[in-house]
Amino acid sequence: MPETGWAGPGGRLSGLGVSQGRAAGPLVRMAGPPSLPAPRPVADPEAEAATAVKALEAVTADLNRRAAAARTGGGGEAAEILEALAMIADDPMLREEAETRARGGADAAHALEAAFNGHQDALAALGGYLAERAADLDDLKHRAVAAALGLPVPGLPDPGHPYVLVAGDLSPADTAGLGPDVLALITERGGPTSHTAILARARGLPAVVACPAVADVPDGTIVGVDGASGEIALGLTPEQAAEVMERDRAERARLAAATGPGRTADGHPVRLLANIGSAADLRPGAEGVGLFRTEFLFLDRKQPPSPEEQTAAYAEVFERAEGPVIVRTLDAGTDKPLPFLGLPEEPNPALGVRGLRVDRLLPGVLDAQLAAIAEAARATGADVRVMAPMVTTPAEAADFARRARAAGIAQVGVMVEVPAAALRAVQLLREVDFLSIGTNDLAQYTFAADRQHPALADLLDPRQPALLGLIEACAAAGRAAGKPVGVCGEAAGDPAVAPLLVGLGVTSLSMAPSCVPLVREALAGLTLEECRELAREALA
Ligand code: PEP
Ligand code: MG
Repeated sequence: MPETGWAGPGGRLSGLGVSQGRAAGPLVRMAGPPSLPAPRPVADPEAEAATAVKALEAVTADLNRRAAAARTGGGGEAAEILEALAMIADDPMLREEAETRARGGADAAHALEAAFNGHQDALAALGGYLAERAADLDDLKHRAVAAALGLPVPGLPDPGHPYVLVAGDLSPADTAGLGPDVLALITERGGPTSHTAILARARGLPAVVACPAVADVPDGTIVGVDGASGEIALGLTPEQAAEVMERDRAERARLAAATGPGRTADGHPVRLLANIGSAADLRPGAEGVGLFRTEFLFLDRKQPPSPEEQTAAYAEVFERAEGPVIVRTLDAGTDKPLPFLGLPEEPNPALGVRGLRVDRLLPGVLDAQLAAIAEAARATGADVRVMAPMVTTPAEAADFARRARAAGIAQVGVMVEVPAAALRAVQLLREVDFLSIGTNDLAQYTFAADRQHPALADLLDPRQPALLGLIEACAAAGRAAGKPVGVCGEAAGDPAVAPLLVGLGVTSLSMAPSCVPLVREALAGLTLEECRELAREALA
């Protein structure tokens, strides 16, 4: 691939680059659930019955193969889930039901659909835990029907070799489940601060979103992905792909070689912190954790985590992190649904009950979490602080601070994600010890622009003067109160924006661990006065 242009022999596409780095490999698409064609007349019922049985066997074998791979890779819990699913697909009653339906004249796909539906209805009728398992059968049903129709298996692909994953969009749970074979992500939809983008960055995976044209690129095409510029090169040779991977490795190694605390060229300290979703995201190099998104631990859960399970998950992070850890209490709702909370559907979820507001509908969840965090902090002796998401008024900040301190957590802060909070930063800082500005949501709510919306990316640009003005006001309030004010939204990890934030007066930057080396390098190249000049220009 020529160094000057990011295009392959097959041309190029572009989208929004949301997670830095380059990678190249064969494109594999995530298939959606198969759509069932109209029933077709059946000439040979025995052959249909045999096709249905073969489809179930193929699904069982595939699940068992993935379970074995998960077990070898140390994923015991994942292996158990996959084995349990394989047992359901292999259930003789299910097989007999499908055979009976096929012998009765249904084609294989409809016979399987009906057999699974019967199973699901029976489980749903039992209620409770078993009724919840009924929903799990959907995935098995889609897999079996796809196998019977000769369509690609729905869900995350597992081609058995490294690949570039392409999808219409990915749920946070899909992104969290990505295996080590995924080299890069391309989605047709999605915005710059969507949770797909955040999770890709946490994994250090190059990612491009909002690229509808990728829908027309055939599976297997070797593509190069530039997660910074958003460009996708099509039709590379295997040699060109290997060269891209090698250059990316060398660039990451070069950046990782620089270590130490964040400083401008003239030595002004700026703490460089990590945004994580679990202990698996921790990497050496940051000076602490500035945002531990605890909701990412429980995205897939239909049952609430017990206090012991919560304490264990937090303690794992506290034990392994270097430096202080700022834990954010659950930020459920809108684009991060937590099924176990059972929150009601809302017509306007981003403006509804999310983040700290969940406490209004479900009292008890927050206090239980604060108790688990405090317990994990005591058990590990780590320097643990907490902050609440989506705080809107000083009264909410005061209530949160009182409850966190009562649980035994000394250092308490709030996130500034709502313009009303930024406008009352002085009053918030009378109640709490620090502020952490969530620019992803602060931009969304300041510009009334959905953070997931690819067509509104310009409004969500962190260099928008109105957003910078709110950040400046928070930083000034922090200076006056002698309390730290950091940024933990995605803007903090952008090497082009980070110096500007420092110029506005923020005292720490928290970002995906993969961004820390780039931001460290960007700050080290500028004096504080140069950062301030950048900020003045941007505000003007
Ligand atoms: C933010 O809104 O900037 C933030 C850090 O929180 P999240 O992205 O998890 O909503
Ligand atoms: Mg937020």
